[in-house]
Amino acid sequence: MKKETVFDLIGVGFGPSNLSLAVRLAEESGASNRKHCYIERQPEFGWHRDMLLDDCRMQISFLKDLVTQRDPTSRFTFINYLFERGRLNEFVNLKNFYPTRVEFHDYLSWVAQAFDDRVHYGQSVTAIEPVFEANGDVNALRVVSQDEDGREWRRVTSALSVGVGGTARVPEPFASLGPHNVIHSSAYLSSIERVAGDDRNGKKRIAVIGAGQSAAEVFTDLTRRFPHVDATLVIRASALKPADDTPFVNEIFSPEFTDVVYSQTEDGRRSLIERFRDTNYAVVDRPLIEQIYEMLYLQKVSDDTRHRLLANTGIENTARRANGEIELTMRDMLTGHAHAERFDALVLATGYRRDTHLALLDGLAPHLDDALAQRSVGRDYRLVTPANFKARIYLQGCCEESHGLSDTLLSVLAVRSDEIAASLADAGQDNAATRAADAKQTGVSGGRVAVAL
Ligand SMILES: Cc1cc2nc3c(=O)[nH]c(=O)nc-3n(C[C@H](O)[C@H](O)[C@H](O)COP(=O)(O)OP(=O)(O)OC[C@H]3O[C@@H](n4cnc5c(N)ncnc54)[C@H](O)[C@@H]3O)c2cc1C
Repeated sequence: MKKETVFDLIGVGFGPSNLSLAVRLAEESGASNRKHCYIERQPEFGWHRDMLLDDCRMQISFLKDLVTQRDPTSRFTFINYLFERGRLNEFVNLKNFYPTRVEFHDYLSWVAQAFDDRVHYGQSVTAIEPVFEANGDVNALRVVSQDEDGREWRRVTSALSVGVGGTARVPEPFASLGPHNVIHSSAYLSSIERVAGDDRNGKKRIAVIGAGQSAAEVFTDLTRRFPHVDATLVIRASALKPADDTPFVNEIFSPEFTDVVYSQTEDGRRSLIERFRDTNYAVVDRPLIEQIYEMLYLQKVSDDTRHRLLANTGIENTARRANGEIELTMRDMLTGHAHAERFDALVLATGYRRDTHLALLDGLAPHLDDALAQRSVGRDYRLVTPANFKARIYLQGCCEESHGLSDTLLSVLAVRSDEIAASLADAGQDNAATRAADAKQTGVSGGRVAVAL
């Protein structure tokens, strides 16, 4: 038997969600007593690095940074970042609330640096296991991770915050093609040179699949960066549609709106989310739509229509030809006419799945009744667990169905981390009482338990 430190909180993933929580916990009074650490599979902090395209802007005001809505006096505001970087006045002169993603990435990295001693970078969490007490209760969880050298790490915690983001969604007709010259937008920058960079064999035909912001950004990037690439954007919709970011609609991303969504019946939530889907899914920022339209128009002026937008187009079948080309069978959804076309490569901007946490928590499923399957999550983002399962599991970024469209975005991060911290503080009080009672019975004390490695 070896003694393991029991953490008060382990965060799985160190993206903006858990970063915001780390800031919140660091800023709470008496913070020095709380033991929290984070496990992140990337070798260093990175926020969607593979989509940090030139000129791409945030789709959210810089005032919705990691802290301002909770505490504008925090040292981790975007404004203080600008100040410390010596760019505050120039930023003001830009008169723009929407920084580039490159700059926001730099802001997030600047905040993350302050937590370097709490983050285990380069480790992937592979399993979460229950730690049973003699009476069958589960007061703690063991977090198993693997580092880049294949070494396994085990840590024990009384609370877990899962903030693992999304996983690339690859719809079936494309999954069977395999990865050769088929990339998902989430791997765009690190893969596109390999796929499109070589111009020795003349022109390359690349199809971008999807009708959302990432698809439009990738399409534009291909047309600008690779003179030998003919890019085709394939969308099922009849047109690229603008994201509705008008002020009344934007109120659905206010922290208060989470209560409105959460208090609905299941049907009510579904209908609310459906009604506002066009704020986030399969929509594009209006200026980018206008840029694409103008680019296609200017091609017509110069009678050189290399790049195309194929609207109303469903992809029915895919096949890999002997020379490596990819054949897409496409159907015009207005005329019903089908035709096949070959491409040298595909970029799938087909979005993200939000079910990664299910695989991660699978080892706990037999002890959670049906909480995972039924997605039973409290307003405080805590998974509802049976009475004997006292370890706390908080879910961030996978509660859209219960907490609304802002859940997968940056919109409510500052307030969400505050709500989770408050819930953890309640748990701290419960745990102190339970630990005192347990210590009486078992003689274990001081926040450390003996567990087998
Ligand atoms: C290109 C792009 C642009 C976007 N722009 C905006 C925007 O402008 N405004 C907005 O509000 N939202 C935007 N979003 C939405 C986005 O989801 C949020 O900005 C934000 O990234 C959510 O933070 P997160 O921490 O929940 O998830 P993520 O940022 O995805 O972070 C999750 C982290 O968990 C790590 N991880 C995953 N699995 C494991 C594991 N098993 N072990 C260890 N670590 C793991 C990942 O490496 C990652 O670092 C954008 C999304 C994309 C893809």
